[in-house]
Amino acid sequence: SAKAQGKGRYEVFDAQMRDRVIRLVKMESELRHAIEQQMLSVQYQPIISLTTQETMGFEALVRWHHPERGWISPAEFIPIAEETGLVIPIDWWVLQEACRQMKEWQDRKLTSSFVSVNLSCRQFLQPNLVEQIEQTLKSVGLEARSLKLEITESAIIENPESAAITLSKLKKMGIGLSLDDFGTGYSSLSYLHRFPVDTIKIDRSFIDRIDKEDDGLEIVRTIVSLTQNLGLDAIAEGVETSEQLNLLQQLKSNYGQGYFFAKPLTPIDAEKWLSLSVLN
Ligand code: C2E
Ligand code: MG
Ligand code: MG
Ligand code: MG
Repeated sequence: SAKAQGKGRYEVFDAQMRDRVIRLVKMESELRHAIEQQMLSVQYQPIISLTTQETMGFEALVRWHHPERGWISPAEFIPIAEETGLVIPIDWWVLQEACRQMKEWQDRKLTSSFVSVNLSCRQFLQPNLVEQIEQTLKSVGLEARSLKLEITESAIIENPESAAITLSKLKKMGIGLSLDDFGTGYSSLSYLHRFPVDTIKIDRSFIDRIDKEDDGLEIVRTIVSLTQNLGLDAIAEGVETSEQLNLLQQLKSNYGQGYFFAKPLTPIDAEKWLSLSVLN
């Protein structure tokens, strides 16, 4: 009967819900363990000048190697870490490690570029954020201008007034500020000038459509010219083909990042990348 079928569906649903919750709880405790046991690592994806091909900097991207399941994508575990608060110790560790690594590369004269570190919404809202970042830079000996921070629109939207104050303090210190995944959140064009960011990262979904849909090119053109009018830099995320690169160069977008240039690299591969490129 229909009733029996309905009940069956609920049972399936309940079982799926239960599986999901069990999986989340398991992942949370494994992630906690991974942080304690230092099973996380950082990879570095080059950010390239589209005019000179120079490596301007690297984005630091966290990696988790699980003893049984292998590499787990941050797209999978960062949202769980956000929910449970574990993202805060993760982000502090990544910040510390990325700054340490960049300082080492600079000391060895491998590069004079910057490292760009992702801040979760939760970390951005920590009351002692500015002081702790200052402390990290000091303990590592890295200059503020060699650090960029990537925040998303949602972190700003949460509390625009206090976000503006925090961003101004970081900017005053000389730290670079990027708005990550630009265009995916709220309609950002109207409030962009109110926040002291210096770089816009155009979300991969727009770069993906640039050579596929009629509007794709026009949308990116609009974003690039907007950033230029505001005196900001633009980084195109997820550049995968030479066609996309050509179009971005025509639009005079200044920076790019993506598999076309390089995937996120282990520290050893990033060092090879630096020593092989003439310009860095
Ligand atoms: P995101 O900050 O927007 O980082 C860019 C993501 O796009 C990275 O994925 C990168 O590997 C990927 N990517 C780069 N170029 C290409 C390309 O040409 N094609 C494609 N298909 N993908 C490309 P990843 O490393 O898996 O990170 C996913 C997201 O996880 C990041 O997006 C960021 O939101 C978050 N995340 C990563 N590391 C951290 C971290 O240390 N802290 C925090 N809070 N979030 C992080
Ligand atoms: Mg990012
Ligand atoms: Mg991004
Ligand atoms: Mg993105």
